[in-house]
Amino acid sequence: MSQKTRDGYSWTPETGLKKGQFACKGAVSPSRSVKAPSSFVYDVLILGGGYAGISAARDLTNAGRSVLLIEGRDRIGGRTFTIEEDGFKYEMGGTWVSHCQPHTFREMLRYNLGRDLVTTRQHGYENDYYTFKVPGVSRKLSHEEAGQIAARGWNLFVDVDGAGGRKICPLPHAQLDNIRVDRKEVEKWDAYSCWDRYQEIRHQLTPEESGLLLSLLLHISGGESNLKNSSLWDIIRGHALGGHEFGNFEDVWLLYKLREGQSGMARHIFDDAVSCGLEYSFNTHVDEIKQLPTSTVQVTTRDRRTYVGRKLICTAPLNTLRSLKFDPPLSPLRQEAIEVGHINYMTKIHAIVQGSGLASWNGACYPNLLLYAYGDGVLPSGDAHLVAFGADERHHFVPERDPERIVQAFKNFHPMDVKKLVFHNWNTDPYSQAGPCFWPPGYMTKYQDELQSRHGNIFFASADWAHGWRAFIDGALEQGFLNARDVLNELRAEDQSRQATRALL
Ligand SMILES: Cc1cc2nc3c(=O)[nH]c(=O)nc-3n(C[C@H](O)[C@H](O)[C@H](O)COP(=O)(O)OP(=O)(O)OC[C@H]3O[C@@H](n4cnc5c(N)ncnc54)[C@H](O)[C@@H]3O)c2cc1C
Repeated sequence: MSQKTRDGYSWTPETGLKKGQFACKGAVSPSRSVKAPSSFVYDVLILGGGYAGISAARDLTNAGRSVLLIEGRDRIGGRTFTIEEDGFKYEMGGTWVSHCQPHTFREMLRYNLGRDLVTTRQHGYENDYYTFKVPGVSRKLSHEEAGQIAARGWNLFVDVDGAGGRKICPLPHAQLDNIRVDRKEVEKWDAYSCWDRYQEIRHQLTPEESGLLLSLLLHISGGESNLKNSSLWDIIRGHALGGHEFGNFEDVWLLYKLREGQSGMARHIFDDAVSCGLEYSFNTHVDEIKQLPTSTVQVTTRDRRTYVGRKLICTAPLNTLRSLKFDPPLSPLRQEAIEVGHINYMTKIHAIVQGSGLASWNGACYPNLLLYAYGDGVLPSGDAHLVAFGADERHHFVPERDPERIVQAFKNFHPMDVKKLVFHNWNTDPYSQAGPCFWPPGYMTKYQDELQSRHGNIFFASADWAHGWRAFIDGALEQGFLNARDVLNELRAEDQSRQATRALL
């Protein structure tokens, strides 16, 4: 494969740290295909080539619209990309997919990927068990027993309504406004932090249940260690999206990967759009977005080029929006939402370890720089691949500066010989400035509607404020779909009204 991306790091004890130059199907070369003259007014400009951006670009170009996609990176996929190295596909960001994610599943079906899956959990290798290190407990147990301990803590945690979240969040794709629950009731629970809820139930938990629950909540939220900035609601919503059943957790959140990798699926969508006329400019940083008196939108890039469209779909992640200048300025409420931002500053690190034994192993280790680790396949070399996650440790840990501490964090779970590390730092990456979205308490109540709303002819599409699978690939696809639909309807209406006016003259 010839395409390479500058994103990502790898490290081995022999070679030290390497930055970028990884084979990735999502890398786009040549990086620019702009055919229209500089005075051309596109139907739509799209800022960002993650799933929200490329799916909107595909829908709009398929409908015959002229679209220019502008992306700061050298690749598509945004917070997902797949590095191909060692005969293996390393998923550096968004990874797991599920048939319970409607927009994702539909894309998989569209490009014949619906059955083209591999699984993370593979039984039968030597270390086919779970290890567990939390305050006061350190032991080895079966995957089933670990699942039961986790389920008890989790089920108590989400059971705020005596019905396992079914009453308070019956329709997780319509959380604030649905036919069954009063908005005020949802807002009451949205004000809770995970810490508040944990205080309510901690007396009912054994030390094992407590340790596993805390590490799981931190693993998901990527927030501060005391869980005070992680909203309870985002956990309830996630539970509801998985069918209100913790037994589904692994199957829905952590089991199925695309055999082609995320960059493979993103490529299908992007190539589809290009075949219908999509123009694009990668390695192009957008600085400023301006609404012109002609009611078109102008984008100015760092290299001082300008592009104009009748509409703009901005897919920049929530925590990057503060780096963009809008003229006229965004509403005070949206500016406040951007200033507060989301709180998921997690780390995701891959390790290659000697021998295949740990391919069937899982572990939880709390407190630790990495909280959860999963066996995830065997390389052609015969060595196991592990993937591990940690919460917000930014104040004292920058993975690329300190690979030896990562190795130690892996060894804290279980004895192992770490041969290689592969990772991307999403927190220092200027185009994400954090990981997948997780909101602080009260954030949904105050800002969701505003974040989803338009600003003149600028539409905002991101997984970070999706209705349903917020913080997932599915949420990005939902937002790409909804915003492309709205833009398309509006362009059609404008065109029809122009034609009608012309016919009258
Ligand atoms: C470590 C990690 C693990 C995850 N695991 C999963 C998982 O297992 N399953 C799952 O479903 N989801 C997972 N997610 C979440 C999922 O990947 C994201 O929610 C989703 O991909 C976001 O898509 P998006 O299009 O909304 O945003 P993005 O993918 O972030 O796309 C936005 C694009 O805008 C570009 N951009 C931003 N600012 C500018 C600018 N000024 N100029 C030009 N371009 C700009 C960015 O470069 C980026 O390409 C994970 C995410 C991370 C980081």
